[in-house]
Amino acid sequence: MEIFESIQCPFCGQASEVVIDTSVANQRFTTDCEVCCRPIEVHAECKLGEILNLEVASG
Ligand SMILES: [Zn+2]
Repeated sequence: MEIFESIQCPFCGQASEVVIDTSVANQRFTTDCEVCCRPIEVHAECKLGEILNLEVASG
């Protein structure tokens, strides 16, 4: 199950959405900010259908 979650760019503060696949218990990926194009590192802890913890870091 996938959930849309809002994150905030740690570089410029722009809010954007990422899709988290909650069937993966612990995941880390990077997504490029639409505004400043810098890589946002996303770390999500999930259980099926629910996001337990979501963190963003500046790479
Ligand atoms: Zn940005």
